[in-house]
Amino acid sequence: ARRSYASNNPNSLKAYEQATESLPGGGTRSSIFIHPFPLFIERGDGSEIIDVDGHKYLDFVSDFTSGIYGKTNPVLKKAIIEGLDNGLQLGAHTLPESSLSSELCSRFPSMHLIRFANSGTEANILAISTGLHYTGRKKVVVFEGGYHGSVLSHFGEDGGDLKVPYDFVVCPYNDITGTNSIIRKYAEEIGVIIVEPMLGAGGCIPGNPEFLQSLRELSTEIGAVLIFDEVQTARLSIGGRQKILGITPDMTTLGKFFGGGFAFGAFGGKKAIMSLFDARQPNSISHGGTFNNSPLTMIAGLTAVQHILTEENLRNLNELGDSLRENLNKVFDEEELPFKMTGLGSINQLHYTSPSQKREGLDLFFFCLLDRGYWIAQRGLVSLNFAMTNKDVKGFENAVIEAARGVKSSL
Ligand code: PMP
Repeated sequence: ARRSYASNNPNSLKAYEQATESLPGGGTRSSIFIHPFPLFIERGDGSEIIDVDGHKYLDFVSDFTSGIYGKTNPVLKKAIIEGLDNGLQLGAHTLPESSLSSELCSRFPSMHLIRFANSGTEANILAISTGLHYTGRKKVVVFEGGYHGSVLSHFGEDGGDLKVPYDFVVCPYNDITGTNSIIRKYAEEIGVIIVEPMLGAGGCIPGNPEFLQSLRELSTEIGAVLIFDEVQTARLSIGGRQKILGITPDMTTLGKFFGGGFAFGAFGGKKAIMSLFDARQPNSISHGGTFNNSPLTMIAGLTAVQHILTEENLRNLNELGDSLRENLNKVFDEEELPFKMTGLGSINQLHYTSPSQKREGLDLFFFCLLDRGYWIAQRGLVSLNFAMTNKDVKGFENAVIEAARGVKSSL
């Protein structure tokens, strides 16, 4: 499977070589790179993508959870086309902007007030900076394996994290005792604790409810602002994972799918904190951003929230993911296949569990799935979308099992 990859994809290889002349590594998004070279995708249709060599794949990456609508969606398409007639940019307050904000505030228990931005990264930078400003402190608690954007990753020494001048204190995820002792050491200096309710890029490792609850209590005790980064986990229920667990942070960040397919980020929280941005107040903080309320984003996001990201649709999609994970793990156990799927609902990750040939195992598995017509992230991420049918997911389940058997017998 791996050997035939280059010969099966001559147009992608050529396109990639050209791209490396102007883009470092041939791309502009490190997370989507594929070894030895990425496929160039020409277009998408429903749950399918078609590459420049004419191959079709069923897409189980769903753009790392942001592509929850599938590649095309008739409801969004209609709203976007109608929106186009009203102007690309208006440079003013608009009704869809306030409707989207009010809808999101009513969904997420922690969000009394909200502001929009253009990416999850930007939302997190703004939320962290707001929390530090509010508390007048300098240190930010983050967690090993945490990812809050391209300048805010904490994968450790091998992870290629870009160093930024925040004063980070890195704590062990899901370790209450370890985290407690580090936080207590710096208690008076810590302004912000930011955490993903499930590690996303760090491997789809769910946060234990007791661990997340302990952060809630500790933040209150030391006077720090607790931020839940729900950029991915917001799709686990209508009010994110915070609503499922009944744990309310001081601030929340969102991104990805709430722009209805366009660039999006949002940060919000308690009135006392977010009122800092109230332009009616004499000493309010300025928060600009040319595209923060881009009309097409607001219209697409509002349409998505009202018609697609409904409680029932989200429940169905997450149940589909839960049963996929349960079925796969059962077969992996029964047949002693060196794989495990972790995650929650429709966001999951396949791990190769054999201690030797770790990289080779997952790589080979990825190429075996490609041969069968299924597209997952090379690092193992599997995310479902609304364009998929139950039959698509069942077909994927069978393909994963066959590919896992293939890897076991050939390594
Ligand atoms: N936080 C989390 C938990 C994420 O998964 C991501 C993106 N994968 C981000 C923040 C950054 O969002 P964006 O890519 O929109 O900047």
